[in-house]
Amino acid sequence: MAYDYDDDNIFARILRGEIPNATVAETEHTLAFADITPQAPVHVLVIPKGRYVTYDDFHANASDAEIVDFHRTAAAICAEQGIAADTGAGFRAITNAGRDGVQEVPHFHLHLIGGRPLGRMLA
Ligand code: 5GP
Repeated sequence: MAYDYDDDNIFARILRGEIPNATVAETEHTLAFADITPQAPVHVLVIPKGRYVTYDDFHANASDAEIVDFHRTAAAICAEQGIAADTGAGFRAITNAGRDGVQEVPHFHLHLIGGRPLGRMLA
C-alpha cells in the first residue's frame, strides 16, 4: 500500500520551523514537543523527521536507524519527564492511525501521556 504524505500537514510545518513548538527533545531523526491540547500533566508528541503518515508506514519504510532513534528518544523522554514505569508512575503510549483510529494529523506521531492516573483504556 502506498502512503500519500501531505507536506502541508501541521507537523510537517513544525518540522520546517513555520509553526512554533515547545521542544522536549531533538535528535538527528526525531523531534518531540508538548501537545498543544494536553490531556494530562505530561503530554508529549514524538515524531520522526522523515515523511511517514502512520505507525505502519513508519515501521515498514523507515531505516533501522530512524526506528531505533525514535523509540530510544521516546523512552528517554519518559525517564526525563518522571513518568517511566520504573519510577512507580507509568504512562500511556498511543498512536492513532487512519480513519478508524481517528488520526487528526497525518504525520506519524506517538503520544506519551502521564502525570496522573489514566484509568483503564477500553477502546
Ligand atoms: P491525533 O489525533 O492525530 O493522534 O493527534 C494529534 C495531536 O496533535 C492532538 O493531540 C492535538 O492536540 C495536537 N496538535 C494539533 N495541532 C497542533 C499544533 O499546532 N501544535 C502542537 N504542539 N500540537 C498540535
